[in-house]
Amino acid sequence: MTRRLIDLRSDTVTKPSAAMRKAIAEAEVGDDVYREDPTVIALERRVAELLGKEAAIFTPTGTMANQIAIGAHAEAGDELICDPTSHVYVWEGGGIARLWGVTTRGVEPAGSLLHVDDLIGKIRPDDAHYARTRLVCLENTHNRRGGKVHAYDEIARIAKWARSNALAMHLDGARLMNAVVATRIHASQWGSLFDSVSICFSKGLGAPVGSALAGTADLIKRAHRLRKLLGGGMRQAGVLAAAALHALEHNVDRLADDHANAKILAEAVENTDGLRLESGAVETNLVWIEIDRSFGTAPAIAAKLRERGVLVSALGPQTLRACTHLDCTRGDAERAAEVIRGLGG
Ligand SMILES: *Cc1c(COP(=O)(O)O)cnc(C)c1O
Repeated sequence: MTRRLIDLRSDTVTKPSAAMRKAIAEAEVGDDVYREDPTVIALERRVAELLGKEAAIFTPTGTMANQIAIGAHAEAGDELICDPTSHVYVWEGGGIARLWGVTTRGVEPAGSLLHVDDLIGKIRPDDAHYARTRLVCLENTHNRRGGKVHAYDEIARIAKWARSNALAMHLDGARLMNAVVATRIHASQWGSLFDSVSICFSKGLGAPVGSALAGTADLIKRAHRLRKLLGGGMRQAGVLAAAALHALEHNVDRLADDHANAKILAEAVENTDGLRLESGAVETNLVWIEIDRSFGTAPAIAAKLRERGVLVSALGPQTLRACTHLDCTRGDAERAAEVIRGLGG
C-alpha cells in the first residue's frame, strides 16, 4: 500500500480547500493599484479591525509586510533591536540592511524570549558616534524559539519602555493568530502594544498567498509607497484577498487542533531516547527537536523519517522542525508520533 506522505516541514504546505477555492472563484475584483478592488479593501478593513488599527495593507508575503514596516519606521543609519533569531533578521535576505540601510542589534534573551530587562541599556546614546536606535521588532509566536508565545504583560512592559524612549514597536505576527488561540487574548489587545503588526494568511490559516500590515493611517499611507517600490502593487488581487478573508472566517479557531496535534508529536519526542524538545514544552504548532550527536545528524534522521512517510525540516546540524497545520489530521499526527517513537528502536 502506498501511503500519503505526512508533510510536517512547514505550516505553509497547506493547499486551498474546496470552499476556499469557491470563495476565490466568486471574488469581486478590480484594479487594486487604482484602489478599485472591493475584496482587497474589505480584507484590509477586516485586518485593521482585527488588530485594532486605523488601516491595513495587503501584501504578497510576510517578508514584504515586515520589510515595509521597517522601511516605514526607520531611516538609513538607524538601528533596530531584535532577538538575533528573528525572522526579520535571519530569513528575510538581509533586507533590513540591503533595502533600508538600517543596522540590526541582536539582543540575546536571558530567558526563552526577550524581556524588558534584556533591552534596558541597549539604546545608543544621543551622540554623533552612534546609529540612532529607532525600532524594536518582536515575533509572536517566535518561530526559532520553539513557537513560544510572549507573555502579554512582558510585551506591555517592553512597549512602555519603548514608548518612554521614543522607539517604535513592530510585531512580526506571522503566527499571531496561533498566539491568540493559545492565550485567548484578542488580536486587537496584542495589537494595542505595537505601532505596526504583520500577519500571514499563508501559514496556519491555510491561504495560498498573502499577508498584511496594520498600523496608523499615516503609516499605511507610507507603506503604499514602499509596497509599490518593492513591486508589490497588485492588480485584481481580490482573488487572493478572498482566500485570506475565508481563512480568517473559517481557519482561526481550528488552530487549537494544530496545537493539540503538536503536543502529540512533542510527547513522542520526549519519550524517544536521543531526541529532545529544543525549547521545552510545546505551546503552539511548532515542534523544534534537538538530536543527540550519538543518535545521528538532522539530515540523517530526516531521511529516516522520510523513508517512513514523514517529512520534517532539517534546520541545523542537530536540529529538526515539525509543524502541524490544516492538512495534518489528528490521525496523521498520531501516525507521525508512532514513526518518531520507532526511531528509538
Ligand atoms: C513565514 C514567516 C514570515 C513571512 O514569510 P513569507 O514566506 O515571506 O510570507 C515572517 N515571519 C515569520 C516568523 C515567519 O514564520
